[in-house]
Amino acid sequence: MDDVVVIGGGIIGASAAYFLSKEGRKVKVIERDPTYKNASFPLSLGGFRRQFFQKENILLGKFAKEFIFNISETLKTEKNPNPTASMVANGYLLMFGPEHADEQYKALENHKACDAGTKNIKGTELSKYFPYINSDGIETATFTDNKTEGWIDPFMFHAALKSKAIELGAEFIKGEVKSLNEINAKNNYLSRRLLD
Ligand SMILES: Cc1cc2nc3c(=O)[nH]c(=O)nc-3n(C[C@H](O)[C@H](O)[C@H](O)COP(=O)(O)OP(=O)(O)OC[C@H]3O[C@@H](n4cnc5c(N)ncnc54)[C@H](O)[C@@H]3O)c2cc1C
Repeated sequence: MDDVVVIGGGIIGASAAYFLSKEGRKVKVIERDPTYKNASFPLSLGGFRRQFFQKENILLGKFAKEFIFNISETLKTEKNPNPTASMVANGYLLMFGPEHADEQYKALENHKACDAGTKNIKGTELSKYFPYINSDGIETATFTDNKTEGWIDPFMFHAALKSKAIELGAEFIKGEVKSLNEINAKNNYLSRRLLD
């Protein structure tokens, strides 16, 4: 019997399969369309950032950066010896008008507590750093310039995660799950409780 059955082999399913297989679990992923033509991850811009409000999201963003920077090693497989997600670590710039500035100042307290390394400037200073941006109506702006944020190619990232999960023993099969009753795994008790 499988330890875990993952329904949907998109970026989250492939990622769950990778991390669980790495822990030695027996994982099966059921995906209704392995071409992923209607999945959301291929549509994604692939942005990874740490500029969020909640500490949990900031810390997840920091983890994502570390993970993405190391995939050439961590996701290396015999079939995919040079995995890449075509990362561009150009940073993120978020700008706020007066109506959202206070909320951002609170977010910045969380950035600081999480050692996010973000920089904050007044709207009037924007042209000093980004001369091509019109700063009219901008109260404050937050950005990174230390290669900790940017974007990746989600399709390549997914392929690398899936390939590694398979090498670690995960099984990806084609199928559409209509009911959790179809699933026979050791660990589906929690998901049943959540859905019931
Ligand atoms: C335009 C756009 C831009 C985005 N930009 C970003 C960004 O810059 N940064 C970022 O972090 N996020 C971004 N996102 C969000 C991101 O794409 C999603 O959060 C992410 O793709 C969700 O992944 P997922 O694996 O949960 O879903 P999906 O990628 O949709 O995968 C779900 C999979 O489950 C399968 N499935 C569903 N139901 C069943 C079933 N019953 N049985 C079997 N298989 C099933 C589907 O076929 C699909 O392949 C963006 C999204 C969009 C649309």
